[in-house]
Amino acid sequence: MHSSQSTYSVFLDRVKAAQVEQVTLHPNRIVYCLKSEWGGQCYHTQPVGPRADLMALLQQQGIPFSQDDVAPDSRSAETATGLLGLVLSAGMLAGTLAWLWKLSQAGGVGVGMGVGKSNAKVYSQEKTKGKTKITFADVAGVDESKQELQEVVDFLANGEKYRQIGAKIPKGILLVGPPGTGKTLLAKAVAGEAGVLFLSMSGSEFVELYVGVGASRVRDLFNRAKRQAPCIIFIDELDAIGKTRGNTAIAGNDEREQTLNQLLTEMDGFDGNEGVILIAATNRPEILDPALRRPGRFDRQILVDRPDKSGRIAILQVHARPVALGDDVDLEAIATQTAGFSGADLANLVNEAALMAARNNRQAVLMADFQEAMERVIAGLEKRSRILTPIERQTVAYHEVGHALVGALMPGGSKVTKISIVPRGLGALGYTLQMPNADRFLLLEDELRGQIATLLGGRSAEELIFGKVSSGASDDIQKATDLAERAVTQYGMSQSLGPIAFEKPGAQFLEGSHTRRSISDAVAVEIDQQVKQTIDQAHAMALQILQLNRDLLESATQQLLAAEVLEGESLQAILKQVEAPENLEAWLAG
Ligand code: ADP
Ligand code: MG
Ligand code: ZN
Repeated sequence: MHSSQSTYSVFLDRVKAAQVEQVTLHPNRIVYCLKSEWGGQCYHTQPVGPRADLMALLQQQGIPFSQDDVAPDSRSAETATGLLGLVLSAGMLAGTLAWLWKLSQAGGVGVGMGVGKSNAKVYSQEKTKGKTKITFADVAGVDESKQELQEVVDFLANGEKYRQIGAKIPKGILLVGPPGTGKTLLAKAVAGEAGVLFLSMSGSEFVELYVGVGASRVRDLFNRAKRQAPCIIFIDELDAIGKTRGNTAIAGNDEREQTLNQLLTEMDGFDGNEGVILIAATNRPEILDPALRRPGRFDRQILVDRPDKSGRIAILQVHARPVALGDDVDLEAIATQTAGFSGADLANLVNEAALMAARNNRQAVLMADFQEAMERVIAGLEKRSRILTPIERQTVAYHEVGHALVGALMPGGSKVTKISIVPRGLGALGYTLQMPNADRFLLLEDELRGQIATLLGGRSAEELIFGKVSSGASDDIQKATDLAERAVTQYGMSQSLGPIAFEKPGAQFLEGSHTRRSISDAVAVEIDQQVKQTIDQAHAMALQILQLNRDLLESATQQLLAAEVLEGESLQAILKQVEAPENLEAWLAG
């Protein structure tokens, strides 16, 4: 019968999908035919891996098979070989088989491994013997993330304690943060601390050429994990499979969707109390499917951010441990000069410096080596536009202090709790954190004015100090304008226009989907004027406050530049000194 060529993996897929009618096994060739409802076509393929494994699979799937152990083309040759030759080749064959068998038992390189099997890398305590295992001591500068993960270690190590009291152990933890901040490292450290098995797989490894493979890999991974509990499943680069479904019409996307659906199903099908915890990492949380983040799945998110100065010192110390350092090396000075570096950048820096010293035949790494390495690394990084020039740093510092000083005087029960000029997340060069004291559902008129002024405080500080503004305030201005417009068109807070809503709400659960009612040109002009007036007044007030507190603005900015982060008592001590202009109350009251 005519048969066409097929790959072994396609064959396996078809076997598993119960499409195969019957199989004939030749020594170097497998011939199989599909069931008539799948076209009845016959194929041939080359076997991969031990035949015993395949036979077990066929038996399990209930597919009839027969063996034809004499290769069609060797029949005549065989009769011609002498007795000795026969014995020899039989012996060699047995040897090869035994070798293959061993390899497959050891779970070695791809042999005997089905396509649908997850090829997760397994790090167990035995496997890492010899190498030192990774613990929290190897991860520095991300103390908050470590603290949150400490809890997970406890779940894994002392699960009984939680089960007894009836507590539900979380099943999914998502590590989010920029590349190179130590997400993968942290996940390994959790396994190392808890002393459990660590099954690691990258998102892209699930999705490969063959349809249906991703989903079955997910299934296999979870089955393995459940058998080996307590353990950690780690999915790196989750975004490769976790992208929002259904927003592209590209074929082949189906495969990813199926894989994602399987992942969601598996996550619903086990609970953390079985001793399996799923940790995933991504640096693109914004594109993840919302279904992944809902409670019961990845409901815990842990931010792993770029380190601040003290964090950078700690990371440098970790990586300098095995390195011979000269007496003149000042890790703190290096940390000061490396704002914006991630953990991976710092690791790279230490290594570059060590290489430099070795190249110069030195016994120890000197500060000069670090200086030179820093220049190299920064030159590389600047292309990625992360490292701020000194003038940019200054601008950001004045800007953030401006927000904080203005915000300190505004009503509304929220307090400035932190100012930072460590570049964070995606895009922000610095930030000022304002924490509300309680949940607020209503915004009073004066609070609204206060918020607008606070938003404009950053830009106002830049104007005051530099006499010109940077592009960094665009987001603030957007937000301020938005607030001012809502005050007029939705909240009816304008004197001249009165309580008329000029916008109709759009979709219920989506913010900002308002549509404008039909309005006359005159009203449109009036709205524009009101918005402009609100903004102008808030801007003037912000400038006035900063002018009045100019010395404080200067000294606080210098402090921020030195420390990179201001928070706690030292910040409150600064904010307490802010003086209010006389006309503040009157402006707030409108
Ligand atoms: P991510 O997964 O977040 O992209 P990795 O965990 O792969 O980053 O980090 C890459 C390397 O950078 C690590 O192996 C480690 O050497 C170094 N590194 C990153 N972050 C840290 C950190 N916080 N402490 C110590 N080393 C770190
Ligand atoms: Mg990683
Ligand atoms: Zn700002």
